[in-house]
Amino acid sequence: MSAPIYMDYNATTPLLEEAHAAVLEAMADGWGNPSSHHWAGKKAKEILDRARTQVASLAGASPEEVLFTSGATEAINLVVRSVQRGRILASVIEHPAVLEAAEAQHDVALEKLPVDARGCLLMGALDQALDAGESALVAVMAANNETGVIQPLSDIASRVAAAHVPLLVDATQYIGKMALPIHATFTVFTGHKLGGPKGAGALITRERRRLQPQILGGGQEWGRRGGTEALPAIAGFGAAAAAVLATRERETARIGALRDTLQTMVLEGMPGARIVGVNAPRLPNTLSLMLPHGIEAEAAINHLNRQDIAVSAGSACHSGSPTPSRVLRAMNITPAECFRVLRISLGPGNTLKEVERVGDALLRLGRQLSS
Ligand code: PLP
Repeated sequence: MSAPIYMDYNATTPLLEEAHAAVLEAMADGWGNPSSHHWAGKKAKEILDRARTQVASLAGASPEEVLFTSGATEAINLVVRSVQRGRILASVIEHPAVLEAAEAQHDVALEKLPVDARGCLLMGALDQALDAGESALVAVMAANNETGVIQPLSDIASRVAAAHVPLLVDATQYIGKMALPIHATFTVFTGHKLGGPKGAGALITRERRRLQPQILGGGQEWGRRGGTEALPAIAGFGAAAAAVLATRERETARIGALRDTLQTMVLEGMPGARIVGVNAPRLPNTLSLMLPHGIEAEAAINHLNRQDIAVSAGSACHSGSPTPSRVLRAMNITPAECFRVLRISLGPGNTLKEVERVGDALLRLGRQLSS
């Protein structure tokens, strides 16, 4: 029996050793309340400060710009729900946290900006929307979780800055793999996508005064996010951020080569397979694979899962009623094609041997179903 293979890193990541050690240290030595002034509080505060510095370094920011939250969803909500009125422009492929938080605001109009068939924001549509009147916020993800397609952030940021509109960048999938090319007004990301534990995320900003706290009741995080800090999760997040920063360039190159090997294997051995977003810049770890006609992603996931290989689909299935992915639909992929899209996302734990095993399993499935 071979060891299980995990290739669903865009969903979440296994805990890095460094993060595991930091979580244990925070639980053993940092059990004090970081707001207390005695020795126990001081120890906890030291751990908190260290994590803040580590997370800041990963984002190329200073520690005072880091506001800890429970994850990217909360950080996004904090930014979007701070907009009280006016227009929010958001790419149609944003995470539901952006779209649903904007839709939930009473006096806010959400305008969804289209993407092209490659999955990149249409600059003409952004220009038009910015010209059409004042906007309160523009929200764009650095890279998409389903397709790995990377947005032209520098270009977007300069247009948004010229219109004097704050920019929110969801860097959740991006920052663990590559350095951000810009400093947005607000940048959000989360620990569990880069080897940290669940339950800690960050909002990076120099514009805290724009934020309307969503959790009241304590002065923590400069009064912008009440509640005693979740120190073990935050410490693990910090340690993961430091570990990622130390190895990011090398690991990104190694993982990119693995992804390309798998991509070539599948394209050569599985006639009719296609890569989604292939003409756009993509995250080096992500393979959004449209299987040949007649092979559903669900069947492929089950086939791989029986061999202890974990991957996921590009489309979500809600309570038995399958809905084609809105991200793929926005790229003009038909509903039927959406159900043939498999998302394979690699990470630091993967090896060439694993890639070969996954490639072989997919090719076997292709031969079985086409014979
Ligand atoms: N944004 C993107 C692009 C994501 O992929 C995710 C996670 O699925 C989130 C936001 C939400 O992150 P969290 O799980 O920390 O709330």
